[in-house]
Amino acid sequence: MKNIRNFCIIAHIDHGKSTLADRLLETTGTVVGKDLQAQVLDDMDLERERGITIKSHAIQMDYHYKGEKYVLNLIDTPGHVDFSYEVSRSIAACEGALLIVDATQGIQAQTISNLYLAIDNNLEIIPVLNKMDMPNAMPEEVKDQIEELIGCDRDDIIEASGKTGLGVDRILEAVVERIPAPTGDPDAPLQALVFDSEFNSFRGIITYCRIMNGSLRKGDIVKFVSTGKEYAADEIGVLRLEQEPRNELKTGDVGYIISGIKTSSEVKVGDTITHVERPCSAAIEGFKEVKPMVFAGIYPIDSEDYEDLRASIEKLQLNDASLTFEPESSAALGFGFRCGFLGMLHMEIVQERLDREFDMNVITTVPNVMYIAHTTKGEVFEMHNPSDMPSPTVLDYIEEPYIKAQIITPTDYIGQIMTLCLGKRGVLIKQHYLTGNRIELNYEMPLAEIVFDFYDKLKSITKGYASFDYFQIGYRRANLVKLDILLNGESVDALSALIHFDNAYSFGKRICEKLKELIPRQQFDIAIQAAIGAKIISRETIKAVRKDVTAKCYGGDISRKRKLLEKQKKGKKRMKQIGNVEVPQKAFLAVLKLD
Ligand code: GDP
Ligand code: MG
Repeated sequence: MKNIRNFCIIAHIDHGKSTLADRLLETTGTVVGKDLQAQVLDDMDLERERGITIKSHAIQMDYHYKGEKYVLNLIDTPGHVDFSYEVSRSIAACEGALLIVDATQGIQAQTISNLYLAIDNNLEIIPVLNKMDMPNAMPEEVKDQIEELIGCDRDDIIEASGKTGLGVDRILEAVVERIPAPTGDPDAPLQALVFDSEFNSFRGIITYCRIMNGSLRKGDIVKFVSTGKEYAADEIGVLRLEQEPRNELKTGDVGYIISGIKTSSEVKVGDTITHVERPCSAAIEGFKEVKPMVFAGIYPIDSEDYEDLRASIEKLQLNDASLTFEPESSAALGFGFRCGFLGMLHMEIVQERLDREFDMNVITTVPNVMYIAHTTKGEVFEMHNPSDMPSPTVLDYIEEPYIKAQIITPTDYIGQIMTLCLGKRGVLIKQHYLTGNRIELNYEMPLAEIVFDFYDKLKSITKGYASFDYFQIGYRRANLVKLDILLNGESVDALSALIHFDNAYSFGKRICEKLKELIPRQQFDIAIQAAIGAKIISRETIKAVRKDVTAKCYGGDISRKRKLLEKQKKGKKRMKQIGNVEVPQKAFLAVLKLD
């Protein structure tokens, strides 16, 4: 145990976590020569393309230092706000963290919130100033920020470059010298922390865990505390480049367990594994059920693909426990599924994987957050869809999720950011200068207001200089109304949205205008109306057009005429017929494109 070091890397996206991790693997001889495929830790195509690590993994290295051999376990952490709970569990499995900061960029919001998590977990922080080879590095300024933030000694900050290899040896030495060896009682009942799991189509679910107390032997019967389910630990081992089976995992070790588990929902990140005989007295603190935050309908474009879509989503769910779905139907779109996601990035990933891995063509409806409705009879229920809204006669009130937002920005943009946040119902609760020209702003805001385009807007008004992170702080009562959209008098359920009362009128007006742009003119007038209950609050009209596409052909070549008609028919296929109006796909996401 005294020669084990468990650590993770805290860094903002693109600050060089993967590149430096590769360097550590290379320097310790964990990967050699040809094996060193760039960025070993990101092994999903999608992750590599997007440059973010979606799922955390771990890798073990041997390191020889002053005549002794050390086992270093690097636990990788996901780098996006949608996955911050997973980050917190990876941190809980470590005694130390490398804090990597890009010397050309300085500290970002994501880094700070993960850093606070690490400090709360009493991790030893090793600050690393990366990309020192870049001509625009500002080491002194960024060192000021780091010193201020963690109160370290300036000399403890390691100057490094994942590109040239500068500082890599110093980092490895610091891991051994500064990070404490794991503690824990080897003779106590088994207590292992699940920090991740992964689906493998041959082997089922692979559980990644850190042994906090006790030990685990191959074949032991174990229990997952949160689900109460029991399994035999058929294979256990450590994580090198590949899994290496072992007969025993001891206190302080990081490893994997394969036990014939079929679906990812049985293995919950943050859960505790113990022995069925001689169980531990308490679960490891900090376990949380991860709940989806954003919901949207996913419908097959061709209704015949409904069953295929179900099979595809089920397969996706095998290795993505945070994806939820239930069948739903829409008068406008037919049969589909209401899916729950951790956030917008997660939703995009699912959509992309459905397309790439399963070749499914789908329509996604406007995402919404989860609301809680209270009725006058005292009933309380979750609303995943605006159509779940109880009728006004029984509705008492609605609650919506709130978040605390952390924004870090150069001071030049404070004014514009405050205007943006105010428009999103944000309340400033704290501001704090990090250095003379960088400030941290803390806002409380409804999740619904930031979930769609807040980040893009923030980036564009600050020319990319601001960074942003958030976490949920519970539900609050809100004055929300259901806004319906009617096309030629017929309400289109897939276009309904829940809106704060104060914004409903301007929202109604803008969505009608947007739909007028997006819905093509047809052979009759189309009335677009926005309504709250029976009250129409806005109206636009799309004027009729009599479009004779064959007129151009002058009655000449008949085959040309036919081709043109066929082309027009194809164009129609991407439309949904609603009543007598044809609505293009993009209209269903119009809400996301309002300015
Ligand atoms: P991650 O998102 O934190 O994992 O960052 P990556 O390791 O993927 O690096 C982001 C980008 O920065 C890539 O284009 C790297 O090639 C580049 N990069 C990483 N470290 C360095 C460095 O030390 N110096 C320079 N010049 N570029 C680096
Ligand atoms: Mg990376």
